[in-house]
Amino acid sequence: MSTFLNKSPVFGPVTSRRFGVSLGVNLMPATGKICTFDCLYCENGLDAQRRTHDGYTGLGQVTDALERTLADMAERGEHLDDICFAGNGEPTASPTFPQAVDVALALRDRYAPDAHVTVLSSGTQAGRPAVHAALMRVDRNVLKLDTVDPAYVAALDRPKVPYDVERQIETLASFSGHVIVQTIFLRGSYEGRSFDNTDEGHVGAWLSALVRIQPRGVTIYTVDRDTPAAGLTKAPRDALDTIARRVRELGFPCAVGY
Ligand code: SF4
Repeated sequence: MSTFLNKSPVFGPVTSRRFGVSLGVNLMPATGKICTFDCLYCENGLDAQRRTHDGYTGLGQVTDALERTLADMAERGEHLDDICFAGNGEPTASPTFPQAVDVALALRDRYAPDAHVTVLSSGTQAGRPAVHAALMRVDRNVLKLDTVDPAYVAALDRPKVPYDVERQIETLASFSGHVIVQTIFLRGSYEGRSFDNTDEGHVGAWLSALVRIQPRGVTIYTVDRDTPAAGLTKAPRDALDTIARRVRELGFPCAVGY
């Protein structure tokens, strides 16, 4: 198992193929994970391995750390492509997430006006009005939809909050295109249950959901290191390529991470 926790409230910058030079904003504590899902593939580890008594980081602390880092980077002439809400769990579940978005947008405008502001989220809180409005204000609203099979979601993503797939599709559609759908494809087994969302049953229904959502983009990927739940394996490259081609045939840009 090779999982890790991020520093808090700011980590990086890291360089990614998707976002370029990206500075992470982690509203969760550095000591553990707080999420609305407990995905078997989570790179932060399973909840049971990452329990913490600490809560979300306060807005003042987030503001100070982000401003200090951005000001230092600007002073050193360091280029920044992206400010990304991610980290040890689910950023949108923080009670100050909407305010933190506004802080990030204002600091971006002041110190790195060319950078994008991105949110990576499970999407479980995206229907809450204040969260929805905040996600509409960011440049990249990246929300998860691993499958539309409720039993598969329950086994793989393991929601800890009420999660209804139909309602989730409606929530994603309610962004009127201001959403990038992110989906992990994988195979394998865990505790006697087999996993494979690359088969036609899963892919066909998921493509139909994309048509309803009308996202501005889709990102598909697979596990790229050992998962905390042993037994899950990569989806084959040709399966990902086939899925990406079908997404593009529907008219949606699709990025693939192998
Ligand atoms: S939604 Fe993301 S952070 Fe939360 S458990 Fe799943 S992979 Fe980990």
